[in-house]
Amino acid sequence: MSEHVMPTYGRLDIAFVSGEGAWLTDDKGNRYLDGLSGLGVVGLGHAHPRVSNAIAAQSSILLHTSNLYRIPSQERLADRLAEISGMDNMFFCNSGAEANECAIKIARLYGHNRGIETPTIIVIDAAFHGRTLATLTATGNRKVQAGFEPLVGGFVRAPFNNVEAIENIARNNNNIVAIMLEPIQGEGGIQVPDENYLSRLRALCDESGWFLILDEVQSGNARTGSYFAYQQAGIVPDLLTTAKGLANGLPIGVCMARGEAAKVFAPGNHGSTFGGNPLACAAAAAVIDEIEEKDLAERAGQLGDRMRQNFEQRLGALNNVREIRGKGLMIGIELDQPCGELVQKAMAKGLLLNVTADSVIRLLPPLIISDDEADQICEIVCSLVESL
Ligand SMILES: *Cc1c(COP(=O)(O)O)cnc(C)c1O
Repeated sequence: MSEHVMPTYGRLDIAFVSGEGAWLTDDKGNRYLDGLSGLGVVGLGHAHPRVSNAIAAQSSILLHTSNLYRIPSQERLADRLAEISGMDNMFFCNSGAEANECAIKIARLYGHNRGIETPTIIVIDAAFHGRTLATLTATGNRKVQAGFEPLVGGFVRAPFNNVEAIENIARNNNNIVAIMLEPIQGEGGIQVPDENYLSRLRALCDESGWFLILDEVQSGNARTGSYFAYQQAGIVPDLLTTAKGLANGLPIGVCMARGEAAKVFAPGNHGSTFGGNPLACAAAAAVIDEIEEKDLAERAGQLGDRMRQNFEQRLGALNNVREIRGKGLMIGIELDQPCGELVQKAMAKGLLLNVTADSVIRLLPPLIISDDEADQICEIVCSLVESL
């Protein structure tokens, strides 16, 4: 491994050279079933022809002009995302953290416009929002923050899945402008809140004049059974971010705003050199076309239910299995012990998976996997857990 790459990741000593669908091939010719999709990014699988063709075609015409000029493909993508999400307008950037930075800036500026000098955002225990200074502050994991103090001001923290705790914070703090959360926590261990959690937070935000900011960087783009996870709760946020699966691997992020939140920014308030460039927007448009034509959101919902049922049947009664949870193809199996070693053991059996929050096996397979591939994933994961 080159010493010229900063050691920010404890990388596994394996290098993939090509992929097709749900499969990756390493430089020794070994094939692996991808149960992780590059951390929830390649929802359509590897080397998807529709996306490859869109990227090839756009790259041979025009890559970049900057946001000093109109970008028709960006406008078209914004129109499509508005139609899908119910949001009014959007800002394009290049990553999830940047999308969240944009949402945080809108909430703060909205506060200042209303005479709140220290606008404060409620964030949640075990949340993950990114690695920039503001987003690592919003993240509820000391490991992500330690050593990078002073953290950014203007955040207060509440426990997960607890509306009363948030009401209590509100009673003692006149500076709150927003609540920011993931509808399903990803890095925090695939934590799914109670059925009515989002609608209760929506009502609280409406009563209090706060923005509801949903981070769907991981849960968005058809992964949980609907294009965005909040759509299953029958609510709409004021600010919505997504990134990972939006363009199947080309870097892109977006912050969407609705109602009052859509009226906050004016020219000069925010920007991005690369954000919303023709190449990234062409890839994202191709991804959305494919998701819609093939009903991949619905497919992810059904296949996810089936996989969780399989896991429940085979693992549910084991003493070392705490809980099997998730929505759609965002699946977590929590064990009663740290299980990081399963990543290597799964790789030895030809499956890529991830362990998050120390003891949660996380699966984010491509949305295009076949029933048979889903069964293969279940079989390998079950045999690994049984052998622990
Ligand atoms: C991955 C992730 C982020 C950060 O996205 P980057 O593209 O790595 O900056 C933010 N929020 C959630 C929920 C994520 O899963």
